[in-house]
Amino acid sequence: MSAVDEASIFAALKAVVEPKKQQDIVALGMVSGLVIKDGNVGFAIEVDPREGAAMEPLRKAAEKAVYDLDGVTSVTAVLTAEKGGPQGQSQGQSQGQPERPQAAQQPAGPAGQRGGGQQQALVPGVRSIVAVASGKGGVGKSTTTTNLALAMVQLGLKVGVLDADIYGPSQPRMLGISGRPSSPDGKILNPMENYGLKCMSMGFLVAEDTPMIWRGPMVQSALQQMLRDVDWGELDILMVDMPPGTGDAQLTMAQQVPLTGAVIVSTPQDIALLDARKGLNMFRKVDVPVLGIVENMSMFICPNCGHESHIFSHGGARREAEKLGMEFLGELPLDIEIRETSDGGRPIVVSNPGAAQAKAYSAIAARVWEKVAAQIDAGGARQAPKIVMQ
Ligand code: ADP
Repeated sequence: MSAVDEASIFAALKAVVEPKKQQDIVALGMVSGLVIKDGNVGFAIEVDPREGAAMEPLRKAAEKAVYDLDGVTSVTAVLTAEKGGPQGQSQGQSQGQPERPQAAQQPAGPAGQRGGGQQQALVPGVRSIVAVASGKGGVGKSTTTTNLALAMVQLGLKVGVLDADIYGPSQPRMLGISGRPSSPDGKILNPMENYGLKCMSMGFLVAEDTPMIWRGPMVQSALQQMLRDVDWGELDILMVDMPPGTGDAQLTMAQQVPLTGAVIVSTPQDIALLDARKGLNMFRKVDVPVLGIVENMSMFICPNCGHESHIFSHGGARREAEKLGMEFLGELPLDIEIRETSDGGRPIVVSNPGAAQAKAYSAIAARVWEKVAAQIDAGGARQAPKIVMQ
């Protein structure tokens, strides 16, 4: 089977005609975010969000056109809407009415048991979705996500990790998983799994050293694909390792994914720099409850003598959390074993569960689950997010 390339995909998509404009979707500039990986193809079709449902046949036709090409094993096309997109659909935003790209994505089936806004229907079988976010990169967000998720597995929960940090997917490495997800029907991917934890990451689909330039719709497309087109099965909780920062891409994700809540990871110095506050504000904007803040690299414990050094004025997170009305969930030391084990694919929670650091993760995980379970018991229904333009 010959490898499929970009040109042949665009050529195939030229046969797909937008019904109203009677022009093909390539000529109309509606196709974006094309990703090809070993015969697996993903792309986004930018549409006017008001026409989302009506565009479903177009999406299907586009998928079929590409699927019929030689060398294609799976295709995922998603509908996205972008502010100021090709069809000039930006008016809604200026009036404070959020564009709702996800409205275009609703599967027709009776998926949504969790009430509330339309987007709640996105992932059937998944009881709760929790974002792990940080104001900036390198604070240990992925390490925290992995260890918390594994601690939840140890609590007896069914847990998945969605690595939405598409700019630097690190879950495959941290969980020691390599290889590619299988897809028995060529459409739905099976998640990868290690230590009893299910995982899906762009890192499985794209080589780690492949430079990727992500545009807004592509980010949405990738995330939607990893949520919707993965057979997560029954999960109590899906932890989402968010991209670092609080820009548009993160806001869009917080808006698009039916989040039960968010955990913010921060180092003491970021708390001082108010990065954590930005994260809090971002989730508040979209009405996602912030479950609390985790202070990472809180203090340094000397591996030789056990002395505790408070390199960055320790304790700031607790004070800041209190000031902001956020729960302080706990703290993790800057610790060589945490670093070595997570970078080596054997996170400390599984490789040394008796260690104090592992117990700290477990305590945080238990508290996060307690709060999430309370939300689920309360109906889990969160109102569709409201975006306030400032
Ligand atoms: P982010 O997801 O915020 O970019 P990572 O989780 O990838 O950050 O962590 C960045 C680096 O810091 C990794 O090498 C990781 O092993 C290390 N790290 C994270 N948390 C700790 C910690 N508490 N102690 C020591 N190293 C840590």
